[in-house]
Amino acid sequence: MHDVIVIGAGLSGLRCAGLLAAQGLDVVVLEAADAVGGRQRTDIVNGFRLDRGFQVLNPAYPALRRALDLDSLALGSFPVGVRVRTETGMAELRHPIRHPFSIIASLRSGLVTGADAVALARWAAPALLQPISRLAQNDVSLREGWDAAGLRGPLRTAVLEPFLAGVLAERHGETSNAFAQRLVRYFALGRPGLPAQGIAAVPAQLAANARGAGADIRLEARVERVSTIGDGVEVEVAGGDSMRAARVVVAVGPDAVADLTGLPRPSTNGLQTWWFAAASPPTASALLTVDGRGRGPVVNTVVMTHTVPSYAPAGRHLIAATCLLPNGSTPADESDVRHHLSEIWDVDVTAWETIRRDDIVDALPAQRAPLSAPRSPRFGDRLYVAGDHRDTASIQGALASGERTARAVLTDAGSPKSTVG
Ligand SMILES: Cc1cc2nc3c(=O)[nH]c(=O)nc-3n(C[C@H](O)[C@H](O)[C@H](O)COP(=O)(O)OP(=O)(O)OC[C@H]3O[C@@H](n4cnc5c(N)ncnc54)[C@H](O)[C@@H]3O)c2cc1C
Repeated sequence: MHDVIVIGAGLSGLRCAGLLAAQGLDVVVLEAADAVGGRQRTDIVNGFRLDRGFQVLNPAYPALRRALDLDSLALGSFPVGVRVRTETGMAELRHPIRHPFSIIASLRSGLVTGADAVALARWAAPALLQPISRLAQNDVSLREGWDAAGLRGPLRTAVLEPFLAGVLAERHGETSNAFAQRLVRYFALGRPGLPAQGIAAVPAQLAANARGAGADIRLEARVERVSTIGDGVEVEVAGGDSMRAARVVVAVGPDAVADLTGLPRPSTNGLQTWWFAAASPPTASALLTVDGRGRGPVVNTVVMTHTVPSYAPAGRHLIAATCLLPNGSTPADESDVRHHLSEIWDVDVTAWETIRRDDIVDALPAQRAPLSAPRSPRFGDRLYVAGDHRDTASIQGALASGERTARAVLTDAGSPKSTVG
């Protein structure tokens, strides 16, 4: 009988397994897919490096800093700011904290009124000044949070709403205000980027650490059932095998957690990313670009190769375009996406080659108000649950949940070292 079986080799499962193995426990990780990573996978397609859906890594996430050697990821960092397609052209807004003089250019762009600038400061100040735990008090929806701060002008409608739609995977402001403030705090502290080898380098490093500590990670091992029997837990794997452990951690995503635990299925938001190859880039700017006119399916688009040249073969460029994929909706049509991109970039995109479209229905757990404290990792006798859906919908949330679950397992196992993470 093993000490612990961890089901799922996404960020939360790998982090949990690594911490438990480092304390000398006999740990087996069972992963259904053919590689580790879960929602963080990267594929090489025609020489291009494609993540499964555009995402970024914010080095300011505390749990990420605890878990990884960030230097070895060779992060390419996106410039801080956003470009906005307006009715009259393209405006560039830099982060006012990092580029104080940019506020003048921002005011000139017509996207920032004096009233909006004051309202934004009112909304964002708690995120920068208060402890994170205080933010969740009296939480409301993001829409209500902005209304309460008096943020109603173009800074909200043309910049923040389209920008955060891509980050939160929804555009109706239904997400928790406190969660959005927390993300803004991390944006203020860190400069998001991507590893030279793709986002999959993050779980690859976690897996290497876990294996180095002694964890046995088995791929293509889909768990079908988990049952507590006597002083242990039995895990049935597709194909007929069954295994036993003293404790089991279910670290599957929001799509699969209900089947294995009986817990309610977390509601989620979907994202769709289109990857295009081009001989020449539509812009020299590496900034993320949004459409401030509220038109079309694309919520953000960026020339990846300006920030991470290793994402394309020499002499080619990779452009990402992300759309929302609300549950039950029809995915955006390629001709609509191309038409919208030609408007945003103001270039002819007909020669762009479509390399792949990623539809990720359960990209992120929906993070509605009120933002709750992280949920307990214990859900039954000797049974634990980890994942971003137990904490916050982010890389930070997944890793922090993995750490919290490892602490609970060590405490219950009577380990003297239950202060990991
Ligand atoms: C398109 C996209 C963009 C994103 N952008 C960002 C971003 O910019 N910033 C940010 O912070 N976060 C972002 N995220 C979220 C982040 O990627 C996730 O929060 C994190 O990767 C979740 O890790 P996890 O371990 O909780 O779950 P998962 O990664 O879902 O891992 C669960 C694992 O369990 C396995 N599994 C499922 N069922 C079984 C079974 N029955 N048996 C065995 N194994 C099983 C799965 O194959 C998977 O490997 C984004 C996500 C997506 C999809």
